[in-house]
Amino acid sequence: MKQYDVIVIGGGHAGVEAAAASARRGARTALVTHRRSSIGVMSCNPAIGGLGKGHLVREVDALDGIMGRAADKAGIQFRLLNRRKGAAVQGPRTQADRELYRKAVLQAVDSTANLEVIESEVTGLLGVETGVCSGVILSDDAKLISRAVVVTAGTFLRGAIHIGDEVTTAGRVGDPASIRLAEQIAGLGLETGRLKTGTPARLRRSSIDWDAVELQHADEEPVPFSFLTGQITTPQIACGITRTNGATHHIIRTNLARSAMHSGNISGTGPRYCPSVEDKVVRFEDKESHQIFLEPEGLDSDTVYPNGISTSLPRDVQDAFLPTIPGLEKAEIQQWGYAIEYDYVEPRQLTHQLRVRSCEGLYLAGQINGTTGYEEAAAQGLVAGANAASHALDLAPFELDRMTAYIGVMIDDLISRGVSEPYRMFTSRAEYRLSLRCDNADQRLTPMGVELGLVSWERAHAFDEKMMSLSHWRTELESEKRSPHDLAGAGLEVNHDGAKRSLYQVLSFPNVGSADIESLLPSWSTAPHDIRRQLEIEATYSVYVQRQSADAESVRRSEAVRIPDDFDYARIAGLSRELQDRLSYIRPQTVGQANRVEGMTPAALTLLISVLSRSAVTPEGERKVG
Ligand code: FAD
Repeated sequence: MKQYDVIVIGGGHAGVEAAAASARRGARTALVTHRRSSIGVMSCNPAIGGLGKGHLVREVDALDGIMGRAADKAGIQFRLLNRRKGAAVQGPRTQADRELYRKAVLQAVDSTANLEVIESEVTGLLGVETGVCSGVILSDDAKLISRAVVVTAGTFLRGAIHIGDEVTTAGRVGDPASIRLAEQIAGLGLETGRLKTGTPARLRRSSIDWDAVELQHADEEPVPFSFLTGQITTPQIACGITRTNGATHHIIRTNLARSAMHSGNISGTGPRYCPSVEDKVVRFEDKESHQIFLEPEGLDSDTVYPNGISTSLPRDVQDAFLPTIPGLEKAEIQQWGYAIEYDYVEPRQLTHQLRVRSCEGLYLAGQINGTTGYEEAAAQGLVAGANAASHALDLAPFELDRMTAYIGVMIDDLISRGVSEPYRMFTSRAEYRLSLRCDNADQRLTPMGVELGLVSWERAHAFDEKMMSLSHWRTELESEKRSPHDLAGAGLEVNHDGAKRSLYQVLSFPNVGSADIESLLPSWSTAPHDIRRQLEIEATYSVYVQRQSADAESVRRSEAVRIPDDFDYARIAGLSRELQDRLSYIRPQTVGQANRVEGMTPAALTLLISVLSRSAVTPEGERKVG
């Protein structure tokens, strides 16, 4: 029997980050996946990033994860979303060449030390019945032993593909479902459920009338995801924009009963924010048309992904409605759209480290936890893998809170509130979004990554250089002071109050940009472009961030009050039975987390704090004896 420190099941977006993070921390890691050639495959849309999701990619990158660098190599249409809004809510996104992305991920996996890829199916987990996971069983009955296992099985657990009334067992089109593993997980007494998602038909690029559609071009200056990427060198392409119309809607409406999503054939809940075209037609009855982005799947690929019309209608209905759309009159279908339904594990049974509370050494990450999206999966994978390694090697655990990272927000949402529909990230989910910006993900997380042994020497060195340069130029700006008269001479009007202002303060004014500083401080023009941009954003947000940090500090204090794992909520007489049951089920690890549990009231929180203080719980969670 082969032995590893950590075994990761699944080579999707969560799995590769989990395996690589575990290996980077020094754990001997095995990544077991159905097919080596499917490592890094994008099951659905060929794109990385977007609003909120782009933040996750930057954070994964700041911790030396794979996704950002792979997207930079594979990106064929970089666009910074919300460009006109503030930096805090901008979202880097790129359409990706599927093949380039897959190759970049595989190359990153292959070049990671301590990481071995095993092509096989995991059919069972060892030891879980005793509450301690100790390895996996493969489809040929071979056993692999380990101290920790991370399950990242995506949409594969009892996956079922629906096209109209046709149902096929599969993890996604062309791949087998994971049945035996799903049955074992369901049999462990863990609460599981069914979710669904869908994908549109794929179209032949050469059969689309591109003259009939509007073109959307990439940004002139692509903004990379990775803090290590200097410049994007992959050629950039345009994608097409077209729309559905009355004729499309009529065909869809008359065939609604034949859609798997609407006929009642699928019991799982779908993503509200990424509805199928039949959902859109029903839910937004008044809308005359819906936008569709025609996204080529690669530089040399003859396949186009029509983003916006995922469907589970039968083939003949897809054949009928697609030609009603301008540009698609003669479009040839390469693969019909479909919906997929799969098992997920209710994430309120996990800790902040993404460990199953009732089973030592067992971690879950990605779509299995009820999320949707590559970025959400990758971010969880990194946290689960880093913690599986800490369990196996007795290293410091890795937890992120809501004040530090979007990853922390996501995990806290999942484990405190659970999911009733596929969870995706949005900037609006983060309370501290003025400080959790894409541009400063490295400043928030890379030092932590260095301390945990998650970050390569190359990144740590590049980060130190950047911080030195930032500090040098920040000091320059802060030490140079100008009077209102000087500023007026440079065309910048401020209150004529006689007070001198530092150039850092001046840069924080809404109407002042980096270029305005040059006439006041000529050496500023020699500062590197990225440093100038970073200080401009930092100065703009400094006042708001200062205000927010007081709130964050009070939340941090409540996060520091730990609740013992075996705390008896039935002791709190004033709590409703429903809330007692919910808290006993979720077992919040801190008072802060308890506060975010659904149904928690200020009165209930006060009661909890007072009972906790009577049991003399220290901030570290250890009860004082005596
Ligand atoms: P996956 O990427 O699914 O990877 C799972 C991996 O585990 C695979 O490599 C598989 O081979 C392996 N595996 C599974 N079981 C076993 C086993 N027992 N043994 C060994 N290996 C195993 N996301 C969106 O954001 N928007 C969308 O519109 C969207 N639509 C989708 C439509 C479809 C049809 C599908 C299939 C997915 C869609 N997704 C969408 C979801 C997106 O693909 C996932 O969120 C993302 O891929 C999840 O990553 P993951 O790592 O959790 O799992």
